[in-house]
Amino acid sequence: MRPHAAPARQLTVVPVALVLLLANAGIEAAAAQGPPTATPDTSCSSCTEWNRPHGPVKVFGNTYYVGTDGLSALLVTSPEGHVLIDGALPESAPQIQANITALGFRVQDVKVILNSHAHFDHAGGLAALQQATGAPVVASFRSAPWIRAGTPQRDDPQYGTIRGYPPVRRVREMADGDTVRVGPLRLVMTLTPGHTPGGTTWRWQSCDGSRCLWLVYADSFTPLSAPAFRYTANREYADGPTDFPRSVERWRTMPCDLLITPHPMGSNLWARVQGSAPLVDPGACRDYAGKAALSWKNRLDTEAKER
Ligand SMILES: [Zn+2]
Repeated sequence: MRPHAAPARQLTVVPVALVLLLANAGIEAAAAQGPPTATPDTSCSSCTEWNRPHGPVKVFGNTYYVGTDGLSALLVTSPEGHVLIDGALPESAPQIQANITALGFRVQDVKVILNSHAHFDHAGGLAALQQATGAPVVASFRSAPWIRAGTPQRDDPQYGTIRGYPPVRRVREMADGDTVRVGPLRLVMTLTPGHTPGGTTWRWQSCDGSRCLWLVYADSFTPLSAPAFRYTANREYADGPTDFPRSVERWRTMPCDLLITPHPMGSNLWARVQGSAPLVDPGACRDYAGKAALSWKNRLDTEAKER
């Protein structure tokens, strides 16, 4: 059975003619001992650094980086409206809006906002960005309850160690293989759980003249958790331990020419846009999958030693 498949459906998002059609279906540190754990840190010691301003960057074709120095937000543009991906921290929203405006685009022309995973450092700014744009937020059906509530969910591996964020009112749920359509734009959702139960990877094609590439916004893969959580023992975590290898396989095999991650340093983005590393690399997602597989193996080894 295909994982996480949902019944075929068509969803119309009011008031604009945006139709969501079913198409087919961390950077965090590890503890020295025991499984990698998240330090209870509701004050977020990294947030100031993550939220340092960064000017907007044209990545390729109609895809622009509009996030902060340490947290990604992407704008994919079209003459019929734009797609914004991720909202970073609550305090990042004004920067993201300013970056969109600095590029010459109108914030009000953002027709839909997508999410990678439902943690405060990627979904925290969604409520403010929704207010500024009037756009619905789209998330996986397993991230949506988190984002609507703004409070951590029990099936999150880091439950109990991470903070909440402003709740988001209009959150549309999508499933594996669904496509978000805005004008000519087509962005495909792939569920890649592991770091969170609802982790989502987005991919789309951008063209620069006649050269068209697959861009992939691959979600975080760090198997980081609260101290008591064990992937190998957790039955509430979707399909439990089988989730992670399935995500690795999906990253390894999906069409991918240009990789971007929710933390830009996770894909060495700044060196790549500055030209000191290749921006385009058809092997990037395969390499990313390899790193994810290694972190998963280490996690399993650590949990096995405890038995
Ligand atoms: Zn996270």
